[in-house]
Amino acid sequence: MPWYKKLHWQIIIGLVLGLIYGVVAAAAGWGSFTRNWIGPFGTIFLRMLFLIAVPLILASLITGVASLSDVKKLSRIGGKTIGIYIGTTVVALIIGLLLVNVFKPGNSVPAEISAKLQTEWADDAAARQQSADQAQERGPLQAFVDMVPENFFGSASSNRNMLQIVFVAIFFGIALMLLPKDKAKPLLDFFDSLNALIIKVVELIMLTAPVGVFALLADTIAQVAQDNLNELGELLGALGFYMIVVLVGLIIHITVTYPTLLKLFTPLSLRQFFSGIAPAQLVAFSTSSSGATLPVTMEMAEKNLGVSEEVSSFVLPLGATINMDGTALYQAVAAVFIAQVLTIPLGLMDQLEIILLAVLASIGTAAVPSAGIIMLIIILESVGVPAAGIALILGVDRILDMCRTVTNVTGDATVASVVAASENQLHEVSPDAASMAVQQTLDEVEAA
Ligand code: ASP
Repeated sequence: MPWYKKLHWQIIIGLVLGLIYGVVAAAAGWGSFTRNWIGPFGTIFLRMLFLIAVPLILASLITGVASLSDVKKLSRIGGKTIGIYIGTTVVALIIGLLLVNVFKPGNSVPAEISAKLQTEWADDAAARQQSADQAQERGPLQAFVDMVPENFFGSASSNRNMLQIVFVAIFFGIALMLLPKDKAKPLLDFFDSLNALIIKVVELIMLTAPVGVFALLADTIAQVAQDNLNELGELLGALGFYMIVVLVGLIIHITVTYPTLLKLFTPLSLRQFFSGIAPAQLVAFSTSSSGATLPVTMEMAEKNLGVSEEVSSFVLPLGATINMDGTALYQAVAAVFIAQVLTIPLGLMDQLEIILLAVLASIGTAAVPSAGIIMLIIILESVGVPAAGIALILGVDRILDMCRTVTNVTGDATVASVVAASENQLHEVSPDAASMAVQQTLDEVEAA
């Protein structure tokens, strides 16, 4: 297959063109044209992905759990998965805390810029603080209560509630596993067929991915720059050091932590892993949502990495909703950065508290754009830093959101590969299998 037909190259081309267009548009003042005529194509792409995320979690997790055949196997795979998810999140947090304490990016922000940012972003910060306060006013076990929906359609109607869907799917999957075979068969066949349908839908959506990614990036840059590249330049200058610390942390986690796990526990070559998972990373970068990216992550993990459906359908939906290493790392750096700018000292105990809270926060963070910042407010308040301080970092949050979502998705795929290898369920596959499947779908569309 020629290189330009490979999915990840096609998406990279869309992404780079989107970036170039976005910068030119911001410089030329085409913001409203971009928002009105280009942005909607990105939104349509994003909506299509979200549209299939909930049915995908349901169908794949119910069949995934039911096919595990016994509760013992489920608790073994479940325990392993959650254990590695939490372990990698703690490593991410330690990397973030080390970097932010060594480089102290907050100390280099001049007082007048700090004051300017705080007034400029005060309204936005206050609005987010309100949602965080609502989340915080609840008791310590509320997070568990929140996982259990009282009405299925209520939870299926919001993409912020994916954890509830995961709960329903696992719960029903276990019940289905316990049913007599003849009673379970019609439902299993139904979900199996729904699964196949969803995979086809993902392949159809991926045909439009280069255009979708182009439009999403063009629109994001138009929104961030707001026709004023100079101001954006100033913002990037003031917060550049902070952003670099977050980005370096994310890069270390992606290039050291995950490869170490992959090398130690799987036969995958790093090249196969990273080129196999690239389309999912690129979609994560442009959508800033691991929930929206989930269908793509699953397709890539199964087709390009060879993770069995049984493992991927359990590990990946769970990961998209509870495993957020990038978000946790960012929260640790951001919390300490804000404290540094506001000259509030944070001792060792405070930083240990940040680790604990960020692990919990990354489980509770919804897999949608900008969700991480709400949980950051809760962390700030717990360690005695005024939450209004998030005003300092809001201006560049979208850019960091794109990068932390890439990390989140890469972490899910790494853990899926590790769990699959440990269960003897990592099969050898052609590294371009997903591109070939999408190409085949295109041929089918043309023939139809
Ligand atoms: N956008 C992130 C995700 O979906 C969550 C966050 O950090 O805001 O993975």
